[in-house]
Amino acid sequence: MLAGTINWVWGLRQACQRLGYQLVLSTRRAQWVDVRHVMDLEVAQRRRAWEALSVCPRTCQSEGAAKCTYWRWFARAPRQQERLQIFRQRHSLRRIGNYLRYRLGCSILPVVMGRRDSTPRHLRHCQQCSTVAVGDERHLVFECPAVQHICNYHSNLFWDGQSMRGFVNQTDQAAVMDFIVACFDSFIQIDSGTL
Ligand SMILES: [Zn+2]
Repeated sequence: MLAGTINWVWGLRQACQRLGYQLVLSTRRAQWVDVRHVMDLEVAQRRRAWEALSVCPRTCQSEGAAKCTYWRWFARAPRQQERLQIFRQRHSLRRIGNYLRYRLGCSILPVVMGRRDSTPRHLRHCQQCSTVAVGDERHLVFECPAVQHICNYHSNLFWDGQSMRGFVNQTDQAAVMDFIVACFDSFIQIDSGTL
């Protein structure tokens, strides 16, 4: 392959350079590529993009708010790369779907639904309690008095100083899912007047 020729090798070298990996092209001998190192550089680059997002989903600007919410409140720590255990257990699709929608920030919570009609974020109040707080994912878990009885029932999932990422990424994912699904079921019962 001739150095300077625009071909796939040239594209590979450009991509490596963008990651900070210098790939020297030679027509005389093959060049080994440290694939593991290149992949580590690519992961580090993607991680920097996430970490550049605002610190708090509640105060970040609207653009990128969903990404910010995922990164700050739901993303698994690097040591938690194993597949979610709920996929290896028997759970109904409805329960798994409700839980995953919550974790992916596309649930029926006011903070999510308000995006559809462009309701200002500070006006996306929780409809289940009288706190006039924004009905976001954190409010559901740690603040909403309407689900206090469910928190009490699942008290083993809570401890002092707990973070959102710590809560949702607990080892017992089935128990976390039980809590989240129970909260949404409770909301539906309240809305339908059966509770
Ligand atoms: Zn509430």
